[in-house]
Amino acid sequence: VSSLLITGIGELVTNDDAGILRAAAVVIEGEQIWWTGPAARAPTADTCVDVAGAAVIPGFVDSHTHLIFAGDRSAEFAARMAGNTYTTGGINSTVAATRDASDSDLRSATARLVSEGRRQGTTTFECKSGYGLSVEDEARCLRIAEEFTSETTFLGAHVVPAGADRGDYVDLVCGPMVAACAGHARWIDVFCDRGAFDADETRTVLDAGVAHGLQPRLHANQLEAGPGVQIAVEYGAASADHCTHLTDADVDALAGSDTVATLLPAAEFCTRSKFPNARRLLDAGVTVALATDCNPGSAYTTSMPLCIALAVREMGMTPAEALSAATEGGARALRRDDVGRVVAGARADLVVLAAPSHVHLAYRPGVPLVDAVVHSGQWEGRTR
Ligand SMILES: [Zn+2]
Repeated sequence: VSSLLITGIGELVTNDDAGILRAAAVVIEGEQIWWTGPAARAPTADTCVDVAGAAVIPGFVDSHTHLIFAGDRSAEFAARMAGNTYTTGGINSTVAATRDASDSDLRSATARLVSEGRRQGTTTFECKSGYGLSVEDEARCLRIAEEFTSETTFLGAHVVPAGADRGDYVDLVCGPMVAACAGHARWIDVFCDRGAFDADETRTVLDAGVAHGLQPRLHANQLEAGPGVQIAVEYGAASADHCTHLTDADVDALAGSDTVATLLPAAEFCTRSKFPNARRLLDAGVTVALATDCNPGSAYTTSMPLCIALAVREMGMTPAEALSAATEGGARALRRDDVGRVVAGARADLVVLAAPSHVHLAYRPGVPLVDAVVHSGQWEGRTR
C-alpha cells in the first residue's frame, strides 16, 4: 500500500472536532486517510504533493440524484421560463425515452453525468430509479445504477405512468416491481406530494420496501406542506428530501428525530420557485443536507458548488454551514460515517480548491474552483 502526503494546505476543513486547520497536511494510505495535522509535524510518505496554500475540503456527498435516464427536456425548461407553471406531467416524456434506450446508451449517459459531478468534487452520490416505471425497466435502471454507486434507491413510486390505473400501479410497485428491484437497491423512496402519491399510498409503498429489506427515504413537502415529512419521521427515514413547505409541527418533528432534512435548491432555482428556509431548520436543531436532485425535468445540474452558492445566497446558510451540509450532512442523509469528513480512518475523498478558503465556493459563484479531486485515495485532475 503506497502513501501520499498532501502538504501546504492553507485551510483544511475536517468536519471533525479539529474544525478548520491552517498550514495543514494530510497523509493518505491506500484508500484511507491515515493522518491529519500541522504540516510542520507531518510524517513522511512515498510521494508528496504541495498544494501551495490551497483550501482542501471533504469530497461532496450528493445524497439525492436521479441520474439514470435518457433524453433531455430543454424545451420544457424554456417553456417554463417563458411563464408556464411546473407540473409532474413532464416526467412521462423521460420515461418513454428511458424505456426506448439501450442498456449501453443508459450506461454511457450515466457515466457522463457521474464524471461531470466528479470533476466538480462529488465523490459519493446516491442514485434513484424512477424513469422506468415497469418491472423490467425499473430493475434495469437499478442494475445500471449499482455499477456506479452502492447508494441506489428504488423509486418506482415516482409518478403513476401515463395510462395506468393508480391502484393497479401501487399494487405493481408493492408486488412484482419491488421484488425485482430490492436486490439492486439499498433504499426505498416515494414522491409523496401533490400530483404524485398521497399519505396512504406512501405508507403502503414504504411498508413493501421495508418488508424487502430496503431502508426508507422520502420526497416530501416540495410542492406543498403535505404529510410527507411526518411520514418520513414516523418511518425513521434517513432523510426527508426537499422540505420546501414546512409547518411548525414538521420542523419540530424533524428536530426530534434522526431524519435529515435534505434541501435541493437547484430544483427551486430551475423551476423559479420559493427556496426552502434552511435557517429555520438549523435554528431548530435539524440536521441539514444539500444535494443536487440532478434530473432532466426540474434540476439538470450535477454541481454541488452551485447548490452551496444558492444555499448561502437564498436560504440563510453561512458558507461553513452550506459546506458542512454538502459533505457531512449528505453522509448523514445516507447513514454513512466513512465519508464526508477528513479524519483518520475515513475514506480518502478530498477536493483541492483553486482558492485559499472554502468561502470562495459561495463567494465566487459559477467559477470552476475544483482544482483536483482525490477519490478513494486516487488523485484526479490537475497534476502538480
Ligand atoms: Zn428528487
